[in-house]
Amino acid sequence: MKKLLIANWKMHYGPIKAGAWIRAFRRERLPKELDIAVAVPFVSLAAARSSLGRASIPALAAQDVFWNEEGAFTGEISPGMLLEFGTEYCIVGHSERRQYLGETDEMVSKKAAAAQRSGISPVICVGETKIQRARGEASKTVRSQITAAVSQSKSEGKAPLVIAYEPLWAIGSGKSCSPQDTKEMHTIIRSVLEKKLGKAASAVRILYGGSVDVRNVAEYMTTTGVDGALIGGASLDPRNFGLLCRAALPA
Ligand code: PEP
Repeated sequence: MKKLLIANWKMHYGPIKAGAWIRAFRRERLPKELDIAVAVPFVSLAAARSSLGRASIPALAAQDVFWNEEGAFTGEISPGMLLEFGTEYCIVGHSERRQYLGETDEMVSKKAAAAQRSGISPVICVGETKIQRARGEASKTVRSQITAAVSQSKSEGKAPLVIAYEPLWAIGSGKSCSPQDTKEMHTIIRSVLEKKLGKAASAVRILYGGSVDVRNVAEYMTTTGVDGALIGGASLDPRNFGLLCRAALPA
């Protein structure tokens, strides 16, 4: 299984800047042994697709999705709509959405299942807060988030699940999780997936996210149980993200 790097622009770059980012990133030399995707705001999917043309690198990802295909759900975007842009991945349950928009485990699970049914790989984000880690509750928190999130999912078929372990205290803080703690959490996540999904768990990639940058990416990539990374701040500059992709798998 190739390692996967996903750029998460969050709420940055409308269509004009998105198109320019994709064109600049396409000029970067990228390791063939990596899968690379970029999660763009909904309104920038069309521009990103048009700058990509038929190219498939980077793959396109959305930052959210709704669980119904159509209907009276003002403001929401369905999996089918995302597919019209050739979207391959979709982040669900990012901690910023859980925190600021009240997304619950139940909503995350419905979104993940809907994406998967349509052939889009959901990138399910889980992670503990600083207080939960200090209280020794990191493992319990993440176990329960994963159990809920995959309760309606199947990991077989063309759109395998992706999990992103993102401790909240590490996101955008410059304080990344130590490789030892990351390894421990990824091992726990893998064991929950095996229990819930059986053999299909082997198709699931578990990414680390939280202050990954050019300097530390290689260390995460060689940490046992880490199948890639979700990258926020360090993905905003296309040349820096190209550098990060090369640093992830040094020749
Ligand atoms: C994220 O947005 O998911 C993230 C990990 O952000 P950062 O890399 O900036 O910590």
